[in-house]
Amino acid sequence: MRDYKLVVLGAGGVGKSCLTVQFVQGIYLDSYDPTIEDSYRKTIEIDNKVFDLEILDTAGIAQFTAMRELYIKSGMGFLLVYSVTDQQSLDELIALREQVLRIKDTDRVPMVLVGNKADLTDDRVISVEDGIAVSSKWGKVPFYETSALLRSNVDEVFIDLVRQIIRNEMENVA
Ligand code: GDP
Ligand code: MG
Repeated sequence: MRDYKLVVLGAGGVGKSCLTVQFVQGIYLDSYDPTIEDSYRKTIEIDNKVFDLEILDTAGIAQFTAMRELYIKSGMGFLLVYSVTDQQSLDELIALREQVLRIKDTDRVPMVLVGNKADLTDDRVISVEDGIAVSSKWGKVPFYETSALLRSNVDEVFIDLVRQIIRNEMENVA
C-alpha cells in the first residue's frame, strides 16, 4: 500500500520536532537540533485499517526553495504548527498556508492548525479564541492546541490529518 505523506510546517522553535518525535517514538526530546530536517515512518491503525505514514519534519532552512516546493507538491496533508507563546509564529502560518495552496493549486488541502506549547500557561500570548478565529477564517480547518511535553492531543492531530486525507481520496475517486 502507498505511504501517506504528511508534512509538518511552521516557524523555528514552535515544537515541530518535539511533536513529531513524541508521536512517532513516544518520547519528549527537550533539545533537538533546529536545523535537522528528517522524515519518520510510522504505521497506525484507524478504524481497523492499517496506514503507513511518512512524516517530514521540516526545518525551515529551505523556506522558499525548489526543495520546499517539491515536498509540498508530494505532501498529502499538512500540520501547520505555531506556538501559543509566539505571536509571530502564528502570523507566519498565514503565508505558509498560502504557499501550500498555491503549490498544490487547489483550495482544499488536508490540513490541521496546531497551537503547541499549551502547557506554558504563564507565557501564553495567543488565546484559544485566537486560534479558533484563524481556523474559521481558513474555512474551518480543524484546530487543536497541543503539548508535545505532556503528550496532549499529539495523536489526535496526526489522526485527524490522516482521516482528512482518506476522505479526500474517497471524494476524488467518487
Ligand atoms: P522546531 O524548531 O519547531 O522543530 O522546535 P522543537 O521541536 O525543536 O522545539 C523547540 C523547543 O521548544 C524544544 O527544545 C522544547 O524545549 C520546546 N518545546 C517544544 N514543544 C513544547 C511543548 O509542548 N511544551 C513546552 N513547554 N516546550 C516545548
Ligand atoms: Mg525541528
